[in-house]
Amino acid sequence: MTGSPIGCHALVWTGDFDAAGITSSIDRTKAAGFDLIEFPLMEPESFDSTVARRALQDAGLSATASLGLPEHADVSSDDPEVVAAGAKLLRTALERTAEMGGTVLCGVLYGSMRKHLAPMSDRGRANSIEAIHRLADQAQALGVRLSLEVVNRYESNLLNTGRDALRFLTGVDHPSVSVHLDTYHMNIEESDLFQPFLDTGERLGYVHIGESHRGYLGTGSVDFDSAFRALDRIGYTGPIVFESFSSAVVSATLSNTLGIWRNLWTDSDDLGAHANRFIRDHIAAVRTIELH
Ligand code: MN
Repeated sequence: MTGSPIGCHALVWTGDFDAAGITSSIDRTKAAGFDLIEFPLMEPESFDSTVARRALQDAGLSATASLGLPEHADVSSDDPEVVAAGAKLLRTALERTAEMGGTVLCGVLYGSMRKHLAPMSDRGRANSIEAIHRLADQAQALGVRLSLEVVNRYESNLLNTGRDALRFLTGVDHPSVSVHLDTYHMNIEESDLFQPFLDTGERLGYVHIGESHRGYLGTGSVDFDSAFRALDRIGYTGPIVFESFSSAVVSATLSNTLGIWRNLWTDSDDLGAHANRFIRDHIAAVRTIELH
């Protein structure tokens, strides 16, 4: 984890990503002490990457982007037209990411982010693998890496565990694609918060740090001690990004999909500064075990 950029998801600050929202979320991420901001690109067409690039340079902050595909643009669909719509949306998000100087596009890129009412079909899985391989070729040409987020069963029927993601990556077979693990989802689906990091090892490319209720870190049931020990053990150096949601900050396209109905915090600046300290303190503490 030494050298890992520590980041913050932009929905900590605002749900409205017009020019003012982009600029203020960058400034507040910087003020809270982070190195990096992750922008949700649920609607990449309308994201002003020029404004973002300039504000990021002014703040001296790096950036990544994430999204979860909608049902009508799902690359894991059996319907070729829906798959094509998904590929188009992903391509636009990738271009916006590259334009703002972003290094990684992550999240649920491989399917629609929602509660599915049936298991993934063989055709759907093959369609998803093919779409991600194509996107990875485009990403490589643009200097962006892809990371596929493992999420809980209510948000995907394809990648629910680290092992699911490793099997999927074998199918994709591309050096620009890695696994994205999130402690909130791991706390629901995995056996513990240690072994999945060891299993993914050098295939791990992105980490979300979220509490069991997605509020203040350290006030829920996620075993962060194990998670940070595991990240240190595998020598992880990729982004570590705080993700938290509250009904106090609403994005119609993301908050509703994720079921953010509760008000878990109101003071974004306090929440962000606390998370930045929490993550850096855990990294520093784990290092002392390895050093002595
Ligand atoms: Mn996440």
